[in-house]
Amino acid sequence: MRLVNRILLGLVVGVLVGLVLNGVAQAGWVKGLDAYVLNPLGQIFLRLIKMLVAPLVLLSLIVGTAGMGNARKVGRVGAKIIAIYMITTALAVILGLVLAGVLAPGRGYQVPASFTFEPKPAPSVVDTLLNVIPTNPFEALMKGEMLQIIVFAILFGLALTALGERAKGLLQLLEVANEAVMKLIMWVMELAPYAVFALMARMVMAQGAGVLLPLGKYIVIVYVGCVLHAAWLYSLIVGWLGRISPIEFFKRAAPAMVVAFTTASSNATLPVTMQVSERNFGIRREIGSFTLPLGATVNMDGTALYQGVSALFLAQILGIPLTVSQMAIIVLSATLASIGTAGVPGAGVIMLAMVLQSVGIPVEAIGIIIGVDRVVDMVRTMMNVTGDLACTTAVARSEGAMEFPATIEVTTAGARQ
Ligand code: ASP
Repeated sequence: MRLVNRILLGLVVGVLVGLVLNGVAQAGWVKGLDAYVLNPLGQIFLRLIKMLVAPLVLLSLIVGTAGMGNARKVGRVGAKIIAIYMITTALAVILGLVLAGVLAPGRGYQVPASFTFEPKPAPSVVDTLLNVIPTNPFEALMKGEMLQIIVFAILFGLALTALGERAKGLLQLLEVANEAVMKLIMWVMELAPYAVFALMARMVMAQGAGVLLPLGKYIVIVYVGCVLHAAWLYSLIVGWLGRISPIEFFKRAAPAMVVAFTTASSNATLPVTMQVSERNFGIRREIGSFTLPLGATVNMDGTALYQGVSALFLAQILGIPLTVSQMAIIVLSATLASIGTAGVPGAGVIMLAMVLQSVGIPVEAIGIIIGVDRVVDMVRTMMNVTGDLACTTAVARSEGAMEFPATIEVTTAGARQ
């Protein structure tokens, strides 16, 4: 069976097993099963895949940038991808606001007697921008600071290009190291179906209906919003700019989408996203190695949509009317907040505080939705990653850097080659 199908099967079986276990979650044997089987199974995969993120970004971006050959091309690809990332994100917030405005999930919602949320201070914009330049690239690698690794790798790649012939030897070495990391990803991907099963089973088992039901309408709106955004905008982008059939796009992107859904982390999914981009879409490494790590860090359509829906939902609950100009402020602040959101689980909530503050909604109100955050985090992360891939196909096509393969290549057979 194809890897993608096995991963989907893992997802479905995980949900079913989780539903069964949910009823008996307190039983001793279930706790044992969770502690000694399900948890380790998920963690082994997560740790292995996270292990590969920093070396993968560094190596593939150095090799990729050197492959582009000049700073002008790097600048052109950078400008294109940033523009398309920003536009799609702003459109996501607008869709979120429209849905939450029309369907009014906050109307009739019983405000809980007490709710608390301690906002963490968000870094200033200047600090965030300065922070992309690493003072120590090794520290950046150790801490997994993605933007810093990206900046260093691009500069180093450009320097190697400038050295010309003399850099050939080192470049070949780095290319082989990059291939080795890619090979490791293929091996790790063999574990994905089991890990997806375990992660889903645990998550469904832990979520009580009591927490989810009162916020059901809000959760459904975030899910529907993400699906609609993908259905119209990504289909348009991949069909019109990427020149591939949308159905084919979603089918081929599925491994990355499912891993993003189950891990709720764009960063952890990155090795899968890059593999999918190369193998399933035939996108040249020079493009994907640049746009995808960047996207995992700054392009978050799902998060932005969620922030728009949440802001309006909380305003409705608290009876705070919002004017059209305040909505425009939400579009701007949620677009910026999603750029500042790290690609790790739960980061979107921290930045939601910034969006609420921008229009005077008390940030403690986040306490109302925090209990169900993981459930909405999963779908928004899935959209974040899908958006990175969709925009990357558009840029790759415009650069003539995509040779769309006839068949999906991320398969077991590929892994065993
Ligand atoms: N978990 C999301 C991601 O990794 C970020 C968020 O919390 O919205 O893409």
